[in-house]
Amino acid sequence: MERLTDISTIRDVLGRHGFTFSKALGQNFLINPSVCPRMAEAAIDSNNGLRAEAALQREKKGTRAVLEIGPGIGVLTKELLERADKVVAVELDKRLLPVLEETLGDYDNLKVVNADVLELNLHRLIAEEFGGMEVAVCANLPYYITSPVIMKLLEDRLPITSITVMVQKEAAVRLCAEPGTRDSSAITAAVRYYCTPELLFHVSAGSFLPAPKVDSSVIRLRLHEPVVHPKNEKTFFEVIRAAFAQRRKTVLNSLSSSLSLDKNAVRAILKTAGVDETARAERLTLEDFARIADAVDDGRK
Ligand code: SAM
Repeated sequence: MERLTDISTIRDVLGRHGFTFSKALGQNFLINPSVCPRMAEAAIDSNNGLRAEAALQREKKGTRAVLEIGPGIGVLTKELLERADKVVAVELDKRLLPVLEETLGDYDNLKVVNADVLELNLHRLIAEEFGGMEVAVCANLPYYITSPVIMKLLEDRLPITSITVMVQKEAAVRLCAEPGTRDSSAITAAVRYYCTPELLFHVSAGSFLPAPKVDSSVIRLRLHEPVVHPKNEKTFFEVIRAAFAQRRKTVLNSLSSSLSLDKNAVRAILKTAGVDETARAERLTLEDFARIADAVDDGRK
């Protein structure tokens, strides 16, 4: 098989299967040959480079396991297969299954699962397919589900070490922002709670077929234990979402309307938490949100 980034190869393969691109499924396939090797290296490296001793153990066991979301015709999958012991690729569009059979049928370390990643029980999939291996997630994500996919991967507390993904440039800025800065949002806070984000490199719109209207970036989220310890994680995320629900308002007004609490009650909560009631959500740190959540919980008892 010729290079899967060649436009003529892609058109030939897709033509043989009568495939047409679905905009609704975010189907923009990579045609820039330098991008997939860099993404695959970043994903595999994140699984091995943590601690020398642990890495050695993993190397012995051969635990380079990758979960890919949306393989398309398999251009990134191929680079992952060359470097990993096993790749499981979840693809929603069943029209792509015979295409993947043609492009990647020679690899015996690939399993393709035809499913919607948002509907899948990923705990079960990882246990069944990777049995105890540490798993890296890698994907050129369909942009219409960037946030729900990342939140699912994080909130499900899966046994994954990192998430290396291509997202829209604006989403990359939000995902990698420092809490307490202008670019931060509810998802920034969630990402920082679970991971250390890195913006790896930018990718121009012309790197895809068909070319989308926006540029993209590849980011890597390395998972770690939560950095703050709210008494109740559910309340913590409820408070973050409520604070950002009306991000132009003060935290006093935003929390009061989104949590349906009387303003005086919120004033007391913010006082206990030591947070300025005139601040906006984007200025608050994870520690601020944790203290507010604890005060909300205490008030509910
Ligand atoms: N990895 C390929 C590449 O880089 O060229 C394709 C990436 S394309 C941006 C996104 C892929 O995700 C498409 O193949 C699309 O069919 C698939 N997809 C869309 N929604 C999905 C979902 N909910 N679950 C799994 N795959 C999905």
